[in-house]
Amino acid sequence: MPAMINQYVARKVALKDMQPCAICSKPSTTVLYNASGPDWLYTCDIHLQDNPQFASPIYSTEYNEALGKLKLVKSKIERLASAKNQIGSWDGWVTKIFSKKEKQKANSSENRESTTTETADAPPEVEGDPDTLLETQAEYGKILDEVAELRRTNRKYELAKIMFESRVLKKRTDQLNRERYLKEQENYSNTDPEELLRKHAFPSVPRQDKQ
Ligand SMILES: [Zn+2]
Repeated sequence: MPAMINQYVARKVALKDMQPCAICSKPSTTVLYNASGPDWLYTCDIHLQDNPQFASPIYSTEYNEALGKLKLVKSKIERLASAKNQIGSWDGWVTKIFSKKEKQKANSSENRESTTTETADAPPEVEGDPDTLLETQAEYGKILDEVAELRRTNRKYELAKIMFESRVLKKRTDQLNRERYLKEQENYSNTDPEELLRKHAFPSVPRQDKQ
């Protein structure tokens, strides 16, 4: 039997198929299903949110790429905003020029081309362009929405390590019980099969709600 991998998908079942939540025992229509087991456990939706002691979301490549883009745009905004602040503080800019002029005066005997340096003191306009900052902020908002949507629609989870280990153990026990049942059935073929089934009730795979 191949090893079970720690990858569960949250599914909805019909109301009539509700079963107790594995954590709080309240009836729930959400089931975490693991095709590699197969394994499944019912859970309230609330336990899947910010609850790494139980389960953590496994996000898509698309989500991680969007997150990377978000970080880049954020640092661009910081850069643009700080450039804007430099222009904004007019006093600071003027002070800088004056202190530069003072220095230039101090060694003016060597520097006769002070007029040409004047243009170099002009404030940076391209980077601090308010439109660019606004556009970048708008782009940031758009990516943020995208990230939020990908988070909201994520259905893949991995169980906390201890939790998953207990599931693997349970799976193994179930398998042993099943084998014992089949052997028993073989050995006591005279026994009423109905009675055997009653003695060994096996759970059936949850069916996904059609909605
Ligand atoms: Zn619960």
